[in-house]
Amino acid sequence: MKIVKILSSIIFLLLTFQLSAWGFKAHYAIAEIAERNLTPNAKAKVDDMLDGKKMVYWADWMDKVRSDSTYDFTATWHYANVDSGQTYESMPRVETGDVVIATELAIEMIQSNTENDSIKTLYLKFLIHLIGDLHCPMHAGRATDRGGNQYPVTWFGRETNLHSL
Ligand SMILES: [Zn+2]
Repeated sequence: MKIVKILSSIIFLLLTFQLSAWGFKAHYAIAEIAERNLTPNAKAKVDDMLDGKKMVYWADWMDKVRSDSTYDFTATWHYANVDSGQTYESMPRVETGDVVIATELAIEMIQSNTENDSIKTLYLKFLIHLIGDLHCPMHAGRATDRGGNQYPVTWFGRETNLHSL
């Protein structure tokens, strides 16, 4: 009986999660979980870097600025595709970077002794978002179908694609 209740809860959560899409809600949840697990020292530093705003506030900011040409250099940073029969290491590198490269860069910039505070804050905002993207299944999808964007599916009678779903 207990297993049935647990499975029912998991199925309910999965359906709720799918219906509300990955989008901002998943980014908010991941940022909140991350913030709750910061050490007191890290929390104080993050609060200082983000002017007291919570990490959740910046969780989907990087998606919101995609239409701002200032951030065109981050266009490919949201995902890393791995085709069938390949590994991340065997896939051709995206010259403008991917979510793995961008995450490593963000950590490097935040830890740098030579970058100024505004650059470190910018890369912390990137990092908060990138960690969310790293956990999105379709952001580690296949290049051949553009991370599920070209994989049509029907969901409760509605035509869409796997990435959107
Ligand atoms: Zn993103």
